[in-house]
Amino acid sequence: MDENKQAQQYEYKAEMKKLLGIIIHSLYTHPEVFLRELISNASDALNKVRFRELTEKNITDAGTELKITIQVDSKQKTFSIEDTGIGMTEAELINNIGTIARSGTLEFLKDSKEKQKSLEEDLIGKFGVGFYSTFMVANEVVVETRSAEPDSKGYRWSSCGEGSFTIEEIDRKARGTKIYFTLKKDHEEFAEEYKIRSTIEKYSNFADFPIFLAKEKVNKVEALWRKKPQDMKEDELNEFYKFISNDFEEPFGHLPVSVEGSVVSFKALLFIPKNPPTDLFRVYEEKGLSLYSNKILIQNDCKELLPMYLRFVKGVVDTIDLPLNVSREVTQSSPLLSKIRSILTSKILGFFDEWSKKDKDKYLIFYKNFGTMLKAALNEDFENRDKIIDLFRFETSLKGKGEYVSLADYVSGMKPDQKDIYYISGENRGELERNPNLEYFRKKGIEVIFLTTPADIFTVPSLGEYDKKPLKSVEKSDIDMDPADKIEKPENELSKSLVGLFKDVLKGKVQDVVISKRLVDSPVTLVTAKDGMDREMEKMLKAMNRGGDIPASKRVMEVNAEHPLIKNLSRLYMGDSSSPLVKKCMVQLYEGALLIEGSLPSSADFVARMNEIIQEATK
Ligand code: ADP
Repeated sequence: MDENKQAQQYEYKAEMKKLLGIIIHSLYTHPEVFLRELISNASDALNKVRFRELTEKNITDAGTELKITIQVDSKQKTFSIEDTGIGMTEAELINNIGTIARSGTLEFLKDSKEKQKSLEEDLIGKFGVGFYSTFMVANEVVVETRSAEPDSKGYRWSSCGEGSFTIEEIDRKARGTKIYFTLKKDHEEFAEEYKIRSTIEKYSNFADFPIFLAKEKVNKVEALWRKKPQDMKEDELNEFYKFISNDFEEPFGHLPVSVEGSVVSFKALLFIPKNPPTDLFRVYEEKGLSLYSNKILIQNDCKELLPMYLRFVKGVVDTIDLPLNVSREVTQSSPLLSKIRSILTSKILGFFDEWSKKDKDKYLIFYKNFGTMLKAALNEDFENRDKIIDLFRFETSLKGKGEYVSLADYVSGMKPDQKDIYYISGENRGELERNPNLEYFRKKGIEVIFLTTPADIFTVPSLGEYDKKPLKSVEKSDIDMDPADKIEKPENELSKSLVGLFKDVLKGKVQDVVISKRLVDSPVTLVTAKDGMDREMEKMLKAMNRGGDIPASKRVMEVNAEHPLIKNLSRLYMGDSSSPLVKKCMVQLYEGALLIEGSLPSSADFVARMNEIIQEATK
């Protein structure tokens, strides 16, 4: 026997085995995804060979028609897809089909498993397991291929998905790749032409090359982005979006762009997805826009076309100003692409702004999904900083739950003598509404912005100011108050000595104790010294650092001398200046304030002390 022609067996790597196990043994609600993945691979292979033909002549089968052919046999229950693309050498077969191409897929997999959430939509849909999705519908898959390399040979790869695959040399004349298999019992419908046709319509109508089924072309092969916006039909847009994004859902909005300038001319068709990426912190893994040069794809996932924070936008860009044979290295440093990026960025931001004015409800839905990305933009895009800040929306103390305002709205509603823009941060609206530091602002009818998401809590204080008005936390000890509220009241005198005792009792716990001018209903509150860090930000930094090195900034305790409880304490103290009950009450008031802001260290101590106080009170 000819040694070269003997089939060689290879083991999958451990991680591949795991992935395959999951694919084979899970039930998927979207088994048709395999077809999308195979067509997209064939399309990639055709794009690669077209590109190669334009740049070098010496390839196998130069001039062959670039197409995809699908054949099904509804009696034998078989399926095959063949392309005249770039094909694979033996080494490519081993390396490309047999490892997980996309970095992060496996990590993601582990993660999802831990979280016990359904894998299918995320893994197959967004990440895509590519070629291996065929094992959802077939037990054994065969690939026959011949590379476009001159003097290439043909190879057959086959695998049952479990553990290993084999490769053997075969006699194959045509360049390109054919993949075929018999369908599993549950998925025999994919041996029916109508099913293939409707699936292509759903996912692959806009593939860059013709797809033939029973000798008939079944897809559109149309550069939709070249049509006039008014001629783009909604179902076409939806189909196109699904094709380029791998999303099962329809897009939330779309934006056609047409630029004819002296530096660069291009057309783009952009889409905003309905849902944010599965993991906002891994948005860098999102596929970028596809770059075309006069309808010919030159790069999928061209990251240079959008800033990181807009990576959730999907779509295509087509420019005639870029030579066809640009390499990835060139696109990375191309001034032309930076120009396109800057134009696209400002168009997209303008689009959001328009949305926010014309369709507020829709904009809010978008903002809730993607607002975090816009906040991340502040550290990334200094040029558009002002535009980005104007896209932010917040709930406030004067508006009902679910109503949002922009900073511009806030400023236009400011009191005539109000100098600062006020905010308060915490875990949720309910907690904020009960915060004693809000009392003064409520009494005065001054609007306070509610910050409840980590993104808000980090970004808003760092804005510094908006429209020349400083942003300030209501927790700061030095809030700007109505002069009339600052006048010392007679009962304050009475409490002054009490404050001295407070200071003694809380030594080491707070930086200072003062008579409050802001409290209305609560006996005490904790505020942050003028230059101290926001409590909520401090809490989050600590959590991130796992209780690490950040020294807790000392707080200032404010005492409401007009509160009956404080008056009672004063009286008790006058009667017996060393009363243990008074001291106990002081610690309890302090810890109560900690409890309200969610930073009480020991609830057991707190409750024990409370019980002692109740016992005294009921004596
Ligand atoms: P992905 O498409 O995300 O890279 P796949 O698992 O689908 O992941 O494919 C892995 C690799 O196998 C591809 O990147 C490509 O190099 C190769 N490949 C798959 N299908 C084909 C094909 N029809 N023609 C040529 N190469 C292919």
